[in-house]
Amino acid sequence: MSEYLNCGTHGKQPATFVCRHIFDSMKTGDAVGFYWSKTNGDYDAICEDCNELSDQDWDAQKADLVNLLCLGCFKVAANLNDVEIEGAA
Ligand SMILES: [Zn+2]
Ligand SMILES: [Zn+2]
Repeated sequence: MSEYLNCGTHGKQPATFVCRHIFDSMKTGDAVGFYWSKTNGDYDAICEDCNELSDQDWDAQKADLVNLLCLGCFKVAANLNDVEIEGAA
């Protein structure tokens, strides 16, 4: 099952994994693309640039790129990019 984190805005929420560019876009309000998936109950999302990385490049960089975001913030970031998250309670 997912791990949880305490968000200053949304309270206790499941943790999701997003790339740093999406994480930063929460502050800037810029749409950077939002390619999300749900694996074993965990949500993750990457931006347009990261989506174009090869698997090899992504694997090499992901330790630097991946940030934790609460599921509430995940949905805010999705909305910023006009993306609907289906099945997220
Ligand atoms: Zn990215
Ligand atoms: Zn949040």
